Amino acid sequence: MKFKNTLCDEGVKEVLRKEIISSKIPHAQLFQEVLGTSGFPLAIAFVTYLFCDKKSKYDSCGKCADCVKMYNLTHPDLHIFYPTTGSTKDMSSKGLFNNFREFVKADLNIFKEDWQIKNKMKSSGEIKVRDIGVINKIINLKSYEGNYKVFIIWQPEHLNIFAANKLLKTLEEPTPKTIFILISNDSESILGTIKSRLQTKKIKPTNKSALSNYFQKYFHNIDPKNIEYSIHKNHFNYFKIRGDIGGDIYKNNYESLFIDWIRLCFLSKSKKNIAELIEFCNQLSNNEKSIQAHFIQFSTNVFRSAFFFNYKLDEFIAPAISREDFDMDKFSKFITSNNILDIFDLLDSSCICLKNKTAPNSKILFLDLSLKLGMLLHDS
Ligand SMILES: [Zn+2]
Repeated sequence: MKFKNTLCDEGVKEVLRKEIISSKIPHAQLFQEVLGTSGFPLAIAFVTYLFCDKKSKYDSCGKCADCVKMYNLTHPDLHIFYPTTGSTKDMSSKGLFNNFREFVKADLNIFKEDWQIKNKMKSSGEIKVRDIGVINKIINLKSYEGNYKVFIIWQPEHLNIFAANKLLKTLEEPTPKTIFILISNDSESILGTIKSRLQTKKIKPTNKSALSNYFQKYFHNIDPKNIEYSIHKNHFNYFKIRGDIGGDIYKNNYESLFIDWIRLCFLSKSKKNIAELIEFCNQLSNNEKSIQAHFIQFSTNVFRSAFFFNYKLDEFIAPAISREDFDMDKFSKFITSNNILDIFDLLDSSCICLKNKTAPNSKILFLDLSLKLGMLLHDS
């Protein structure tokens, strides 16, 4: 990964380049992700530039042996750690690395919600003591290439307390030529004593033209106007834009969920299929809260598009559901000026409730939301 291909603001790239050129690299840094910008590609670009032996003033060469190893995430001096579930030895960052590599290959801009869906995780998972034990072992070995050893810790807010304390000790006694990069979109939840050891860099979104070029390159079938609309609507938030226009596996999952859910909401008014609706809400509530909240945001976008579709306000319609068996024309007739604001309020308040860590059982929240939505849909 080259700096020029990362989707974040240029200022931080310049700072990172200078650190390497002047050989003044902090021992431990925090890449604090802002507004749906993934810090992972930048961390990889930084390490690639560090290892590259034919680097220019601005970027890595992309061709030398080190660059190729970094591209494949097989560089022996790069070690990546992230949350996993399960207690067996295989369920650790090293044990699941092939799985992680496959995940990252699909899109280097990685997000915890996607990782949890890919692994069917029912919780956020943990970075375990075992993982930090591996770090400590590697620190005591010589680096393969005789240079730096780099440890990337993705989602350090999910270090369990024992692992966090063990990592803290390691950070307190820096070993020469050892670099830690912690990447988080929830830095408030990182143990304070660890955070105080880190030099923080905010990873903010890039500009409109870079985002637009990127999405046009990867999503040829989407009208560039819709891409620009989505960038604007989602305030340059990569994660939301991709969810909006993506057509990727995660979105397809949300699409299927949405279609099943709305059918059950419709039927609930006449008290049909209530048992099926309860089971659906049970299943949905088994997911991590952030996924549940994202599903509601996805649903809000579908309702918004359906409303504009109904009133033929073409300039506002963004692609919402790509499945051919979904009849947007028919669905949109139920979304009118009589119910759209109430629907938005309902979805919005449910989303806020889910993001609140003290939220009640989300089975009840989804059942309540579904029944109210069923009433509103019949009130068009
Ligand atoms: Zn190179």
